[in-house]
Amino acid sequence: MTTDNAAIARKTASRKPLAVMLFGAPGSGKGTTGKMLTTLTGWPHLATGDLLREQIARETPLGLEMRNILASGKLAPDDLVGRMVWDRLGWPDCEHGFLLDGFPRTIPQAEGLAQWFQGRPFSPVLIHLWVEYNEILRRLTGRRICPACGAIYHLDSSPTKEPGICDNDGGVLTIRADDREEVVLERLQTYQSQTWPVAETLRRHGVLVEAIDCGEMDPESVADRIVWRLDRIAGSIAKKKTKAE
Ligand code: ADP
Repeated sequence: MTTDNAAIARKTASRKPLAVMLFGAPGSGKGTTGKMLTTLTGWPHLATGDLLREQIARETPLGLEMRNILASGKLAPDDLVGRMVWDRLGWPDCEHGFLLDGFPRTIPQAEGLAQWFQGRPFSPVLIHLWVEYNEILRRLTGRRICPACGAIYHLDSSPTKEPGICDNDGGVLTIRADDREEVVLERLQTYQSQTWPVAETLRRHGVLVEAIDCGEMDPESVADRIVWRLDRIAGSIAKKKTKAE
């Protein structure tokens, strides 16, 4: 990666930490980009989909309850996801900034998060990863994951060396239950009806919203672009503060 992240680290060290929300349709690259951004920034990557899948894999009571909901492409209940997130945001590793991926995803979740930010020292930024509809379909139906290490591959755009086998650990790749074609369509509808209005809700609460057109870009370039934007934002937030003072 080409970006020197030291600039963000310097700027945010002495100012309000950034709370970055990765927003976008299923398949827009939030997970892949989030992992890269964590490497670049050192901030924890808090992905509600991963947290829920972890509960399912461990067969906890919550996981057993969630299995069918996730497999059908519907959303988990707001109160449950909210509790999971509020708890996680209280961990000390979030104090210097964090990345939220897949949250908030409904208006009640957005309202809850806006309330959570009140009186807390964070500068919230929503990064909208914009990808064209047909490209989303292509990405989701060709996605394969390693259940052991979480690596994400794609049949065309990032294939493994040996078909069906993870390059990292030799694990057998699987298709996420919700990447089946009929479920993908349900997820995209859910996104349109319940998640799309979240950006506007947060904007009304004063959250900075930045869109990135990433259909043509590879994940590394998207992550670099975000870091570059955040670097500028950290600076401009500081300037706004100075003006107001
Ligand atoms: P994608 O963004 O590609 O749909 P995720 O891993 O973010 O994938 O989410 C997978 C599934 O987990 C969602 O379809 C939904 O069922 C559940 N989920 C994740 N985040 C939330 C959330 N904030 N609220 C409700 N359900 C969620």
